Amino acid sequence: MSSHGSTDWARALEHVSPTPDGYQEWVDADYARELLRCSDEEITRLRSSGIQTRGDGFELSDLWNVGLYSGTGASRPELEMVFFGLVVSPRRDWIVPTEYSITLEAACPSEGDCVSDRWESPQLLGARWHEGKSTTGRVRWTGEITVSGRRDIVHDSQAQEVWAEFVNGNSFHYLFMRREQTPELTRTRRVGDCTALSAALSEKLAGHGLSSRTRDGFLFSGREARIHRWVEFEEDNGDWKPLDPSMAVLAPRFFTTEYAEFCKGSLLNRLVRIAPEDTFHVHHWCAEHRMDLIPAVALRKN
Ligand SMILES: [Zn+2]
Repeated sequence: MSSHGSTDWARALEHVSPTPDGYQEWVDADYARELLRCSDEEITRLRSSGIQTRGDGFELSDLWNVGLYSGTGASRPELEMVFFGLVVSPRRDWIVPTEYSITLEAACPSEGDCVSDRWESPQLLGARWHEGKSTTGRVRWTGEITVSGRRDIVHDSQAQEVWAEFVNGNSFHYLFMRREQTPELTRTRRVGDCTALSAALSEKLAGHGLSSRTRDGFLFSGREARIHRWVEFEEDNGDWKPLDPSMAVLAPRFFTTEYAEFCKGSLLNRLVRIAPEDTFHVHHWCAEHRMDLIPAVALRKN
């Protein structure tokens, strides 16, 4: 970090695993400048820092990740971390039950041409919905939801070992890749977002004969909510405990080490959970086939 705006890109790149061949998405210098919120001079310096380029283009995920680890405090990926930092702020209580008003909306890709009013919301735990309202091509549900957390810890010693090794050996990466990062690729690159890291951790637990499943939900702060995925581990006695690998690997750098510890079995009261068998999607039947749509979710404290 420097007070004169000169970023050590080579140092930031030490944290970045370049997007592999066949997965790259190329974007131009204007995109890079806007994402990293820096000068033309900085973009020129970045170009000669060793980051992968094609012609004048930069690779999309690499840009997000070099921004995340740049230490400038100004890039959009770092501003995203400010949002998550508020979600897990140590000044807030992490477990007390709180009631919120919730709104969940989705739109059909056919918009005005949509002829179907068949919509199904994801199953949010603790939600009490009013009647859903759909207009042409759109749906909106409103209601109340009580969200609570729980302080706990994973007890199984083998699961603890797998967890410690996983958290120490992996780091967070934004993945805006042409193809999905498979668990095998996560294992090789040792980087991922919440989806990739959850899949890889689940696979690792299964490899040790330990039972787990992935869970979906919405992390929120203020009115804003972001889709999130994590793992739940099943103890010998049948208790399911949350293991949140992406937040745990981010915590020491962007949040607190206390939160990294919280990720090993505790449940946050800023996380709206979806039922174990369901995902975050809104289901919509349009012209007879089912579509899985990504909803927009907003919460307001009552
Ligand atoms: Zn439709």
